[in-house]
Amino acid sequence: MNVPRCQLKPGRDKSVRARHPWIFSGAVAREPEAEPGAIVDVIGHDGEFLARGTYNPDSQIRVRVFTFEQEPIDAAFLTRRLTEARRWRRALLPENTDCFRVCFSEGDSLPGLIVDEYAGYAVIQILTAGAEALRGPIVDAVTAAIGPRGIYERSESAFRADEGLEKRHGVLAGEEPPPELAVTENGMRLIADIAHGQKTGLFLDQRDARKLAYKIADGRTVLNAFSYSGGFGAAAMIGGATRVVNVDSSARALELGRRTYEANGLAVDDADFLDADVFDFLREDGDAFGFVILDPPAFAKSQAGVSRALRGYKEIIMQGLRRLEPGGFLMAFSCSGHVDTALFQKSFSARRSTCAARRRSCCASATRSTIR
Ligand code: SAH
Repeated sequence: MNVPRCQLKPGRDKSVRARHPWIFSGAVAREPEAEPGAIVDVIGHDGEFLARGTYNPDSQIRVRVFTFEQEPIDAAFLTRRLTEARRWRRALLPENTDCFRVCFSEGDSLPGLIVDEYAGYAVIQILTAGAEALRGPIVDAVTAAIGPRGIYERSESAFRADEGLEKRHGVLAGEEPPPELAVTENGMRLIADIAHGQKTGLFLDQRDARKLAYKIADGRTVLNAFSYSGGFGAAAMIGGATRVVNVDSSARALELGRRTYEANGLAVDDADFLDADVFDFLREDGDAFGFVILDPPAFAKSQAGVSRALRGYKEIIMQGLRRLEPGGFLMAFSCSGHVDTALFQKSFSARRSTCAARRRSCCASATRSTIR
């Protein structure tokens, strides 16, 4: 096989030799003669083979490395990588859990590919020109590695436009998942809308936090702000909360929340599913809660939006604390990729000590990784 070659400038081979999977445009001495998405070899200035990956002349990341060996990148290769990724995930997965991320792009040495598993269905995102060019082998590999009932595509990230790709959405193989698919997480039922829900259907990255909410909730009144499909709310109810108020500005999210309650045999009171803006809700002089959960969408979509996002986090956390009973718990999250843990904590840290000293309340906080 004659693989086009991308030659690096002298001295620009260090990061790839250290196994970083990206080759930036500035490191390239000679571009390969290749179409966007093509497989190319990365070679040192002296011609030595260093890595193999997919090329995109329109991206600052010219090559995304799949392997450091001279091996074919085909369905068999992708199957090996996916099988390995899935084996690792399953080794760490709690019991009674059938929804989880199988493959997270570069994190699993499969750049541009995200695969989530939901009760036997695979939901995939193809995010780069390179992964797009491998679409056929990817479907074969997902079929071989997971053996799913169906493969559904949710390639709708804005990221695709940067790679010169249109959004894509729909069944790729096998059965279409039902509109409201019941899955299990730590023994709790969750309802996922694979075709139209947010992300690939659920916020799978909040599994551990929902478990923590289950532990904390006993005997408390809970505010589940930005509730989406009610995962935190159901976990808190199962954990013994006396009442949970779920607030979201999406009617469909609240409907999924009610379905989630029903799937767990929890009584649904419509008064506990509020279609409202959380900022407005928090400013009201309503009841205080024993446990406040704040899990907003990413407030900073870009670096330029960071300071506005930090003001947003501060606002909801301040107001959340105002609505917290003495001795209460508050959990706040950020999924803004541009806001790291230190920055997020800085957005409210002065308040935290005030609150700890004056109100004896405990604040837990976390940033969570973004699932694109
Ligand atoms: N905690 C959820 C995920 C929350 S995602 C879970 O574990 O599954 C963020 C949610 O916030 C979305 O459902 C979105 O509809 C909602 N949302 C975004 N902005 C909002 C606002 N200003 N007020 C109320 N809800 C909002």
